[in-house]
Amino acid sequence: MDSSPISAEPKRKPAERIEDMLVDLYKDKLMDFYNEYPLVKSVEIDYKDLELYSSQAADELEVTPYDALKKIKNKVEELDHTRKVRGVNIRIANYDGIFLDSLKRLRSDVIGKFISFDGLVKRKSDIIPRIKMAMFECNSCMRLHEIKQKTDVIVEPSLCKDCGGRNFRLLAEECEYVDMQVLSIQEPLENLAGRETPRVMTVLIEDDLVETVTPGELLRLTGILKVIKKKNQDNMRYLIECNHIQVLEKEYEDIELSPEDEERMQEMGKDPEIFSKLRNSVAPTIKGMDTVKDSIVLQLFSGTEKTLTDGSRKRNDIHLLIVGDPGIGKSDMMTTVSKHAPGGIFTSGKGSSAAGLTAAAVRDETGGWTLEAGALVLGDRGHVCVDEFDKMRPEDRSALHEAMEQQQISVAKAGITATLNSRCSIMAAANPKYGRFDKFKPIGEQIDLPATILSRFDIIFPIEDVPDEQKDSDIAWHILDIHENDDYLKYDINTDDFKKYIAYARQNCQPRVKGKAKEKIHDFYVEMRSLVQNREDPIPITPRQLEGMIRLTEASAKAHLREDAIVEDAERAIDIMKDYLQRVGFDAVSGKIDVDKVEGRQPKSWHEKVNKTTEVLEWLEEYYGTMPKHEIVLEEVSIKLNESEENAEKLIKEARAGKLLQWSNK
Ligand code: ZN
Repeated sequence: MDSSPISAEPKRKPAERIEDMLVDLYKDKLMDFYNEYPLVKSVEIDYKDLELYSSQAADELEVTPYDALKKIKNKVEELDHTRKVRGVNIRIANYDGIFLDSLKRLRSDVIGKFISFDGLVKRKSDIIPRIKMAMFECNSCMRLHEIKQKTDVIVEPSLCKDCGGRNFRLLAEECEYVDMQVLSIQEPLENLAGRETPRVMTVLIEDDLVETVTPGELLRLTGILKVIKKKNQDNMRYLIECNHIQVLEKEYEDIELSPEDEERMQEMGKDPEIFSKLRNSVAPTIKGMDTVKDSIVLQLFSGTEKTLTDGSRKRNDIHLLIVGDPGIGKSDMMTTVSKHAPGGIFTSGKGSSAAGLTAAAVRDETGGWTLEAGALVLGDRGHVCVDEFDKMRPEDRSALHEAMEQQQISVAKAGITATLNSRCSIMAAANPKYGRFDKFKPIGEQIDLPATILSRFDIIFPIEDVPDEQKDSDIAWHILDIHENDDYLKYDINTDDFKKYIAYARQNCQPRVKGKAKEKIHDFYVEMRSLVQNREDPIPITPRQLEGMIRLTEASAKAHLREDAIVEDAERAIDIMKDYLQRVGFDAVSGKIDVDKVEGRQPKSWHEKVNKTTEVLEWLEEYYGTMPKHEIVLEEVSIKLNESEENAEKLIKEARAGKLLQWSNK
């Protein structure tokens, strides 16, 4: 450019400079806007343009936003050739005047100012009408008073100009309204140190911003910071009147890598020892447990995302469950995952909010219904670690099947219907039902979770805390060494590079399982199915686990930056599966098990099977608080009794008929 707009006419006033900006840069945009109004109600102005044309107007926006926005609005309305545009919303994009990188930094000196910050949508209220212009009538002389309203707390006239009266009546039909929604915005989790509770900010969105956001989304919000005092409350509270919303992405795929980074990541991928280096950098405080660590590494890379021709999506996220006694380092493992994953969330099955793991419709302070996002929604596109998974609240139980497999959560309650995304990988930990895990008891009986939920985990790790002199000695030395020397722990790859490497792999590799690797998995699955079929107690190896093995194989290929999976990747997935089978007392080589030690044998006769089915039905009804959907019942009975779906259907029918008979005989 040969002439800078700043030097053009330096003496023009801010209002004139705004006009110049609109004419120079926004002419076409405004033409379209005037024609589309009132279908379109807002004009978006880039803050950078404002700064360029008038630094004074930009400064004014920061300190006295209402005045500054009004000046732009007036200009936009003045330039309107159609003369019909009134009450335009001016929205400021890319504002970085006052950016709060953490709500912790929020101080009273920015009250009234234009600010910007990032946060996750935790709650979203119903759409409620807010009075923009209130009409009051004086109770003594009937004079009408118009009072402009700026928040959801209604301000009355202080005194009647005619008679000095102080009592007024609100004329609800005479008021002017605007649609409003109240959001609760929680600060991003990566801003938090340790397990600090995230701060939450109330944000009002109005007019055409209403219904543009969904719980779980990460947003950059710009608006005016206000304080209000509700009638029955002592304290003032902060509130943001939102001006502009930008949806931010929050995934590995969005980590930006410099060309130097990319080159370094490619070099790392060529290292034949890359996988063991990644493993050694996961939770080095924990000695051993290599298979668990391998699985964590694979979970971080995840499988390949696929959308089928019918538009349905195949889950690529890997779900892991660790079942074991307290003190085996479950929490350390989970902390590692949340540390290495962008937007990682650490929560407990009991949940700290009404929404728990999934989502809920809850009453807010105004008495209206609000949609609140739980951990799996807030963790959309990320990793969610759930401790005490078995202690999950009854409200979460039925929603969890859909949340884990379709990776969506449907809410239909109190007039709210919504589908929220939960495209996250879950790393869960649970305690064994009887305190300790026993490899000679069927695994399904040792965890207080239905088989249908267990089957949605790609891998389950039952971890026995068996005293073993050599192992215990190693662990003891390891812990003592960590305490003796600060530099003892060696991370082969530091956290920053670890993250970048995963990001690079996820952005650049979409491996598929083909050829020899494909055959390998096929053969293993068929063989295991045939061995498991003959067992007394069922181990759930179903097509769901086959899909899990495909994801693990793809993830292994990604961890090596491979274009497609090779046999080595398939073998890694198979080894993990064999390790699991062995942990539940199954020798994957001989297919044999010490039958005498197995308790809880499967019923043999049809009559026994019907009785067992009745037990399963009763348990399901108790667990979910009501009988779950038929497909869940069918899957549960089929896994628990190791029967085909066809037989399971017959058993359910007979068990139900039997129950009816019991009731009629009472
Ligand atoms: Zn009066």
